Amino acid sequence: MNYDVIIIGAGPGGIFSAYELMKKKPELKVAVFEAGYALEKRKCPIDGEKVKSCIKCPTCAIMNGFGGAGAFSDGKYNITNDFGGTLYQYIGKTKALELMKYVDEINMSHGGEGTKMFSTAGSEFKKLCMQNKLKLLDASVRHLGTDINYVVLENLYAEMKDHMDFYFHTPVKDIEALPDGTFRVHYGEGETADCRKCVVSVGRSGSKWMEEVCKKLNIETLSNRVDIGVRVEIPAEIFSHLTDSLYESKIVYRTAKYEDAVRTFCMNPHGIVVNENTNGIVTVNGHSFEDPEKKTENTNFALLVAKHFSEPFKDSNGYGESIARLSNMLGGGVIVQRFGDLERGRRTNAKRIQEGTVRPTLDATPGDLSLVLPKRILDDITEMLYALDKIAPGTANDDTLLYGVEVKFYNMEVKLDENLETEYKGLYIIGDGSGVTHSLSHASASGVYVAGKIIENI
Ligand SMILES: Cc1cc2nc3c(=O)[nH]c(=O)nc-3n(C[C@H](O)[C@H](O)[C@H](O)COP(=O)(O)OP(=O)(O)OC[C@H]3O[C@@H](n4cnc5c(N)ncnc54)[C@H](O)[C@@H]3O)c2cc1C
Repeated sequence: MNYDVIIIGAGPGGIFSAYELMKKKPELKVAVFEAGYALEKRKCPIDGEKVKSCIKCPTCAIMNGFGGAGAFSDGKYNITNDFGGTLYQYIGKTKALELMKYVDEINMSHGGEGTKMFSTAGSEFKKLCMQNKLKLLDASVRHLGTDINYVVLENLYAEMKDHMDFYFHTPVKDIEALPDGTFRVHYGEGETADCRKCVVSVGRSGSKWMEEVCKKLNIETLSNRVDIGVRVEIPAEIFSHLTDSLYESKIVYRTAKYEDAVRTFCMNPHGIVVNENTNGIVTVNGHSFEDPEKKTENTNFALLVAKHFSEPFKDSNGYGESIARLSNMLGGGVIVQRFGDLERGRRTNAKRIQEGTVRPTLDATPGDLSLVLPKRILDDITEMLYALDKIAPGTANDDTLLYGVEVKFYNMEVKLDENLETEYKGLYIIGDGSGVTHSLSHASASGVYVAGKIIENI
């Protein structure tokens, strides 16, 4: 089989790359290989009744398949260079923002119209944060919501499916660089497909595989960061003054004790806390719905501390995994603790949760996070909760729920040039799998960008 372009991974990076190629150069023969299933076949078995927690499926329906890790996400497209990745370091700030806006236009024309764009510009909260040693980062946020995000993906697939070959449930095993400058993709039982250009967009779930490919092809990589923390769940009223006008606020705090930076991440007003399975390890995440009927009485967000390692330690993701495994060992999955119990040095149990005022939206195991999280990280999180309590009184209440652990794994950074191309001309690595992006908008923008580069060069 011969293709002009093979795209590996149908997450936002791969989808927007394929979409752009279809729109701008429809004569190209394109194939998309995806380890997971088509969108309609992606079903997590957790139903809250028969299956209450993660059963570690071989292919996680939440992380893999058309739409990638973002398919059932909250669909928050943050249009900013301040967070979500370092794409701007490769392509420039103006171009990066321009492409994020372009992606937003495509989302709007595929079912996203009518959803709200929030912005921190001119917000009075900046001053309030500053007065309390907190920094509110600048961004515009398009909130599609889990339901509309799904509709957008459905519409994109419907438009694309007859113009390219999709191979679902087909993980690529290997990429071979052929002497004539083209690439051979290995999959299935000894099957192959050749292409002139290859775009790799395997996201976080493909990080281990990506590492192996880079090793084999001698592509330089760097790995030194993991973010560790908890997901906080509080009554939505406590944060409503912020979430009503900003939806999501990215707030950074530098702790007095260690001068560590703690940040809020992935805020879900009236949302739910969910399990996430990364390579068999269960961590916590959250999302929310546009549909008013699906809104809950709670808001959740993560508090994360970034850990950077220096020589000789290189396996930052391994460190994060070990901490997550510890919570899985003690709690059989995610652990939940009341902040008041954490402060009093005691385990939370089902009775204390029941007596509390915050109704958990995830059925996690009540436990003791101090047995899981390193002291320094726990101290950082505690300090941040008290700092947030100053701008949103009630955040540090006894009944505030902390779910652990939330780990944000970073892919190792692959050495790429300004075209997001490796030293093998025609082999592009984009999205979260490249280590360059960590968000829907940046991953999608990187996809559009390389499609443009391919069109220029093919
Ligand atoms: C629960 C959840 C909520 C989130 N919420 C948000 C949010 O609101 N806003 C935001 O900006 N970000 C959010 N994110 C992060 C966001 O989803 C990712 O940053 C984004 O999806 C990255 O896109 P990507 O295309 O690089 O990779 P992914 O979306 O991870 O897609 C990669 C795809 O490649 C496939 N793949 C992997 N290896 C192979 C292989 N060897 N062969 C073939 N296919 C392979 C995978 O199956 C996957 O489908 C969330 C993530 C999760 C898990």
